[in-house]
Amino acid sequence: MLTARQQYCLRGIGIDVWIERRVTSSNNPAAEPVADILSAADLEDIRRFAQTGDAPGFSAQSEQAVNLSAKNGDRPRFSEPTEQPANLPQNSQSDLVKPVLSPAPVPAALPSSPVPEVEAPLPAKLDSWDSIIESIHACTACELAQNCTQKVPGVGNRQADLLIVGEGPGHDEDIRGEPFVGRSGQLLDRMLAAIGIAREQVYITNIVKCRPPNNRDPKQLEAQQCRAFLEAQIEQIEPKVILSVGRVSAHNLLASNLPVGKLIQQMHKLPGTEIPLKVTYHPAYLLRNPSAKAIAWQDLKLLHQMLQ
Ligand code: URA
Repeated sequence: MLTARQQYCLRGIGIDVWIERRVTSSNNPAAEPVADILSAADLEDIRRFAQTGDAPGFSAQSEQAVNLSAKNGDRPRFSEPTEQPANLPQNSQSDLVKPVLSPAPVPAALPSSPVPEVEAPLPAKLDSWDSIIESIHACTACELAQNCTQKVPGVGNRQADLLIVGEGPGHDEDIRGEPFVGRSGQLLDRMLAAIGIAREQVYITNIVKCRPPNNRDPKQLEAQQCRAFLEAQIEQIEPKVILSVGRVSAHNLLASNLPVGKLIQQMHKLPGTEIPLKVTYHPAYLLRNPSAKAIAWQDLKLLHQMLQ
């Protein structure tokens, strides 16, 4: 039962009806039901953020220091997924629960029309940063390369604990040659700052390294042809956690076509590896759907815990 204050806060972020839902871990029947409904403090954070964009959670100057710990050991390569886009998730009140904390496999909902295996014509072995970046710049494997202004391989700390994977460069990124520098990127920076992480501390890249024309979704084949670059980047970085932002990223990384609203509810592992993977809403989606920031805030808090 919510207090009057909680109900007021929820109304403040546009939620009129609150349906309490209990989520259990699908692969762990013994697990306790998760009843991690937002605390009053959470609600206060969210209300402030929803109204001002400047809650402790997402404010521009969080001074909280994150202890970026030592790197994990070697990890195996991950397998090639295929993906099929699904519609953008509908935000619903019942999504307002914290994700199940124990890593769980992605429910088997593989794309219905798998893409044939493709050999991307890679000129070099992708076993060093130099070869990865050179190969991305030299790549002409798909039509995206012909139409973009420049390649956008990625930016940041090449030994980061946190790897952020978006969808593909947009207009601003195409001009600047750096991922997430437009409005979405500014929100992403604020979200990171909210948990005490500077942009320079993480590595940021995308599923595809060239801008899709008119910001359309990357095609399956394009994503697949770019896949070796992302795999090689992950092998070099050996991140402690991957944050997959948005539908295209999540579907590609998890080889799933479940709605983001579902994928967001549990921790995953990057298929074929032990690397924990958290899905969250794309900042562009959050800009269009501010009420979903409440859920993203929970994701960030979980990410912060995992990076301790
Ligand atoms: N959106 C993305 O997914 N990636 C970017 O680099 C910019 C916007």
